[in-house]
Amino acid sequence: MIASSMALIQQFSMPIARLVRPSHRTCFRSCTMAVATPSPSDLSVPLTTRAQVLLGLSDEELQQLALDLGQQSYRGKQLHHLIYQRKVREIQDLYQLPRAFRDDLQEAGWRVGRSLIFSTVTATDGTVKLLLKLHDNRLIETVGIPVEADKGSVRLTACVSSQVGCPLRCTFCATGKGGFSRNLQRHEIVEQVLAIEDVFKRRVTNVVFMGMGEPMLNMKRVLEAHHCLNKDVQIGQRMITISTVGVPNTIKKLASHKLQSTLAVSLHAPNQKLREMIVPSAKSYPLDALMRDCKEYFLETSRRISFEYALLAGVNDSVDHAVELAQLLHGWGHGYHVNLIPFNPIEGSEYHRPHKKAEKAFVSALESLKIAVSVRQTRGLDANAACGQLRNNFQKNPLVTDKDLASSH
Ligand code: SF4
Repeated sequence: MIASSMALIQQFSMPIARLVRPSHRTCFRSCTMAVATPSPSDLSVPLTTRAQVLLGLSDEELQQLALDLGQQSYRGKQLHHLIYQRKVREIQDLYQLPRAFRDDLQEAGWRVGRSLIFSTVTATDGTVKLLLKLHDNRLIETVGIPVEADKGSVRLTACVSSQVGCPLRCTFCATGKGGFSRNLQRHEIVEQVLAIEDVFKRRVTNVVFMGMGEPMLNMKRVLEAHHCLNKDVQIGQRMITISTVGVPNTIKKLASHKLQSTLAVSLHAPNQKLREMIVPSAKSYPLDALMRDCKEYFLETSRRISFEYALLAGVNDSVDHAVELAQLLHGWGHGYHVNLIPFNPIEGSEYHRPHKKAEKAFVSALESLKIAVSVRQTRGLDANAACGQLRNNFQKNPLVTDKDLASSH
């Protein structure tokens, strides 16, 4: 179990158990509010968004909540099933629960924590991009990517956001160009996966933290959401990938949690100078320090790291760059894989997609130097949903305006 989630469970359940039983509605609310001291990142979230949310709570926490409201603990188990498996969105729609329990939940200020789907775009390859409208009217994107796997089965990957926008402004990224609003809460990350399951009417098999935002800048909530996705939504840790462009002092911290998930590190360049040009935030995290942290991550977790490399025509896609990349990786041992992402052109970008010939030459150069490499298939290009394109007209404006609302109907 993740250490931080353990701490959260302890922090949450003790006061409920000790102070609230038997049911006292007003007491319950004030006691819970008193112990759940907001972290600095919470303080940037409006009070309405910090209201008590069921989504993100564990089976044990929901059982405790049922007890605290004078119900038997199995009602908490039912609640767990209803919000995670049946995906009920409103408290009053939890028909399997007694009316009194539903009323108590509402009176105590609880809500399920699901958001409205503001807009949906479907690409010809089946990729679906959703725009979710959060409690405070901010918009986030999440993408569902279906892939036919072996024997006719379908793998459904949810590409989730961890922040509203992103402060890092990587030069090739549409999200970075849109600016940053705030970190997402645990339930706002988890609900993206449920929304994809709703739309596709099937289980999500894989989750990648590759949507809007830098997950390591919101690590606490990302770890909580990871724990919930694993334990409550029942997605295997190995089916989850956390992606980072590199934030100083975070990879070591992540390694200490010993997750069995994949860490994807966005490299995009084989040397510091070029990397700083493509990823401005790299100035504060030299490449050799990043590679050292990656090596330690592998030693600590035994999990192979995926190095992501966006191929930008004429910028980082020459055979010389491939050779330099191989040398860099050889210098840091083994336990990695390179994932090449031919750039998807975005509106107003100075970058272009490399020619197929250049892409093949880059791959061959890496393979000849014994580097394990794959090329990521581009998905959802026509829905502007492929990697680095998580932006649409709405995101230029961090808050939904009346005009946006009118034009979405
Ligand atoms: S690539 Fe990732 S880290 Fe960089 S600006 Fe875009 S969302 Fe942020």
